[in-house]
Amino acid sequence: MSKSEECMLLMDEREKTTFSLEEMTHLLDGGKYKTDLRQSIEKVILSDPRMKPEDISCMSPQQQHNHGVKRMIYFYTDLAKKMSWDFTDSRCPELEFLPRTVGMATSLMLHASAFIPSVAQLGTKEQVAKWYTLGKEYFILGCYAQTELGHGTNLRELETTATFDQKRQEFVLHSPKLTSMKWWPGELGKGANHALVMAQLIIQGKSYGMHAFLVQIRDLTSHRPMPGVTVGSIGSLMSMGGSDNGYLSFKSVRIPKANMLARYAEVSADGTYIKKGDTKLMHASMVNLRVLMTKGEAVLGLEKACTIAARYSCVRRQGSLQPSKPEIQVIEYVTQQHKIISQIATAYAMHFTIQHVQAIYNQFLQDLDKGKVGNLTELHFVTAGVKASMTEQSVEGIETVRRACGGHGFAHSSGLPALLQRAIPSCTYEGDNTVMYLFCARHLLRCAQKVFMGQPLEGSVKYLSAEIQNKCRANKKEDFINPNILLACLQHKAQAMLLETATYMQYIASKGMNQMDVWNISSVQLVNVVKAHMLQYIFSTFLDFINETYCSPPIRDVLLKLCALYGIYNINNNATNLLKDGYLNGEQCTLMERVEVDLLQDLRKNVVGLVDSFDFRDEILNSCLGAYDGNVYERLFENAKNSPMNKDEVHEETYKYLKPHLHKGRDILKKMSKL
Ligand SMILES: Cc1cc2nc3c(=O)[nH]c(=O)nc-3n(C[C@H](O)[C@H](O)[C@H](O)COP(=O)(O)OP(=O)(O)OC[C@H]3O[C@@H](n4cnc5c(N)ncnc54)[C@H](O)[C@@H]3O)c2cc1C
Repeated sequence: MSKSEECMLLMDEREKTTFSLEEMTHLLDGGKYKTDLRQSIEKVILSDPRMKPEDISCMSPQQQHNHGVKRMIYFYTDLAKKMSWDFTDSRCPELEFLPRTVGMATSLMLHASAFIPSVAQLGTKEQVAKWYTLGKEYFILGCYAQTELGHGTNLRELETTATFDQKRQEFVLHSPKLTSMKWWPGELGKGANHALVMAQLIIQGKSYGMHAFLVQIRDLTSHRPMPGVTVGSIGSLMSMGGSDNGYLSFKSVRIPKANMLARYAEVSADGTYIKKGDTKLMHASMVNLRVLMTKGEAVLGLEKACTIAARYSCVRRQGSLQPSKPEIQVIEYVTQQHKIISQIATAYAMHFTIQHVQAIYNQFLQDLDKGKVGNLTELHFVTAGVKASMTEQSVEGIETVRRACGGHGFAHSSGLPALLQRAIPSCTYEGDNTVMYLFCARHLLRCAQKVFMGQPLEGSVKYLSAEIQNKCRANKKEDFINPNILLACLQHKAQAMLLETATYMQYIASKGMNQMDVWNISSVQLVNVVKAHMLQYIFSTFLDFINETYCSPPIRDVLLKLCALYGIYNINNNATNLLKDGYLNGEQCTLMERVEVDLLQDLRKNVVGLVDSFDFRDEILNSCLGAYDGNVYERLFENAKNSPMNKDEVHEETYKYLKPHLHKGRDILKKMSKL
């Protein structure tokens, strides 16, 4: 394509960048070695014609599913063999970079990220040797079947049963009611022939709670349902057409005793229930999925959306600040900077935080291999909180920058609707966000009790037991760029909100309210407490990264400004609590509003450099607005011309309804012209 005015604008923007893009990309990737590895994997995937993404916006769910399966089965099998990629470790780089590279491809993802790791985590050595190997080669296709029509969140009330038949040494899987039907599992609808089913274990009439069972649900030759199995698709969804979500119920389906995944608990031949090891570890595989999806969908999704919106905002001209002057780039409007640059700051803060959380999880696994069980409570707390907070911030952020692209942001050709649609369900699966926040709140309330008793806290909640000043000491603009001042604000807010809520809960309990009502009546505050805690966690993790990592002065400068902006943006968005207890006064709030604008204007020159550093290739962004060269208008028109809607000049099928009326109009117009 020729160099349009828009291309030149982006080239000018790149000239303004104050830091080395290469250095920033290496920091984001975790080192030069990681960047090289990522780029080489992306090159292999994107240069393979069979991996080429197609425009799925015009496809039916069935077509999206076909397209996804065709592409992903090739990736997991033939391409992996050709490249000698070994997927034994689900944290291998090829799988790590897959969501970044193929984006919307959800097909077979749950087999790889939920079914196989769960078998590896929950199975005995013998079970893993059999099922894991079959699964890894895609000789069987599995799904993770937990949620039911009647229950998702409340696992204790799941109704599917697995009853031990001692005589035949089998389990009998049964769905006693309509509501006990499994509902939602990805890959289940049309693809999977095996399911890892979470069911209530019953031995001699006694229930032992939820356990995992491997069940063959479709015939290995005909792919039809096995006897006693009812299975199908739950129909089309808001997005994720390729994910093949399904329903599944059992009518006294028998499986061998060996199909209960028995690493942590087993049933002996005489029906004795035997606990083995720490059953809390049963849920560790879900932690992996939580971290992966937060990174793959929430963080990368926001980074891609920011890249598209930032580049477009620099080439789009609309109006001017002075009537007689030429039109300006929309990024010059401070309102636009507020929408775009604040989200870039959020993307950076989340990026370095999820990298840190992934490192904590990897360390936990390494310790586990050596027989040492790390702090599982802290791991669950941090990953649940990070998942809820980041998916929520990501959805809000993607929608903000999508709207910031005006009309073009509404078109699929911008790439933005797809990113939003992909991020939205992440607020629900792997644990509804409210439920995740409330799970974290229980832990924070236990921490509050320790604070009341004067006991110290460790890990991510350590600050809650520290003495934090009760008044902010900042009194001029510069003070609010100091990250320690901002961190103190965020920590004071979370600490004060927690202690106030815990005190109130104790008070209403002392007046005779029962514990469940106390909990329920305080739950809105509790959710807000966890949100405040997570904001300080993300802020402080980002700040620690900047302080503990070697980087050149220009990079350090821009990262500190992004960090400050992330803090100020969130404080300004909701300063009620800080004003309520007098930690901040009105004057300080005004100063912070001014500092926010100063930071936006300062970071404006780096807006393209900051998103270029994410290093998304055009094939990955798949956006007419966000392509590297900025040739927005030619791409939009090219894309429209190639739309399936324009394949035929006239849509005869539709025109037949309009024709009688339009022909009447034609005749009237003809007559009128003769008058
Ligand atoms: C795209 C997609 C893919 C999925 N894939 C799978 C899969 O592969 N396998 C699988 O097993 N499941 C899967 N699920 C199911 C998913 O895990 C559940 O939908 C999710 O855990 C939420 O549970 P629920 O639907 O029962 O919602 P509910 O729990 O019924 O939530 C409804 C409302 O009630 C509120 N609520 C519920 N409990 C509480 C409480 N204790 N306190 C306060 N408020 C509460 C929630 O916040 C929410 O607002 C998938 C879901 C989606 C959308």
